[in-house]
Amino acid sequence: MSEIKTRCLIIGSGPAGYTAAIYTSRANIAPLMIEGYQPGGQLTITTEVENFPGYPEGVTGPQLMEDLRAQAVRFGADIRPGFVKEVDFSERPFIAKTDNDMTIIADTIIIATGASAKYLGLDDETKYNGMGVSACATCDGFFYRGKKVAVVGGGDTACEEALYLSNLAAEVYLIVRKPHLRASKVMQARVLDKSNIKVLFNTVTAGLYGADFLEGAHLVEHNGTPDQREYDLPIDGFFLAIGHSPNTEVFRPAIECDHTGYIKVKGETTLTNIPGVFAAGDVADPMYRQAITAAGMGCKAALDVERFLTEQA
Ligand code: NDP
Repeated sequence: MSEIKTRCLIIGSGPAGYTAAIYTSRANIAPLMIEGYQPGGQLTITTEVENFPGYPEGVTGPQLMEDLRAQAVRFGADIRPGFVKEVDFSERPFIAKTDNDMTIIADTIIIATGASAKYLGLDDETKYNGMGVSACATCDGFFYRGKKVAVVGGGDTACEEALYLSNLAAEVYLIVRKPHLRASKVMQARVLDKSNIKVLFNTVTAGLYGADFLEGAHLVEHNGTPDQREYDLPIDGFFLAIGHSPNTEVFRPAIECDHTGYIKVKGETTLTNIPGVFAAGDVADPMYRQAITAAGMGCKAALDVERFLTEQA
């Protein structure tokens, strides 16, 4: 068991965490980052990133995260593997414990643990991940120009993804398990008005097929009723948009979250309900969820930490 003291513990290693590490390191705060189970975060499972400013030719998700990591290391950030499994927020300094037997005594904490896209739970989703299956239309949609794609879900995210894809793909199918959409009326109207989006109501996905790459989905309409109909839909891309789960289990209930589990921050800041604890990136952002907005919030969290430590001194 090792015990480490730090002025700032950063939990999570996506764009928010790395940016917070770059800024706090440059401010001589000497942060300690615990990377989590998926070092680099969600971007490490995407392919090409073409919308992160500063990369005119695009960059792969893993390369972008390596670059951010290298920049943080250059300024002295202490980055370690591990998963923070519990934190005592009852008094300062806070005490965090990891699954690899570290005890971290931290004056401040930045929570940047991100959110994970929900999947249907089909084995085929894993089989074709990155080869036709994606949970991010803005990341991967460009590769489906002129092709046929399907989006699963009936909420605002699914409608937004379907609309985004409809400007790239030839045809977009929206697979909705209920007889209606859950999305806001305005989003519903936009989707229903779009000539190349076809909504498949009362439809669930039973599986996917294809030799190496995805070639289609096995669908079931009116599942479990006398009208049940099974058929195959040929598609090149299958996008999940059935919601995201913010990775906040470890911090609740001490850290205040909204009804969907996202950490609540105060106004335009990254302050949580506990003084000295800050949140940045997708874990506190149900709205934008982009690498660049997460990075921006990581910067804000680092500046908030700096201000907090100065006030405490
Ligand atoms: P939601 O929870 O609103 O919607 C999830 C959708 O996925 C629902 O249609 C749900 O179906 C469907 N779904 C869930 N599980 C399954 C499953 N196993 N199989 C098939 N379908 C499934 O999530 P969103 O990510 O869309 O939105 C989250 C929040 O963010 C919402 O409050 C939304 O309004 C907000 N948001 C706002 C935006 C904006 O304002 N521009 C953009 C994006 C999100 P069912 O309806 O049957 O439960």
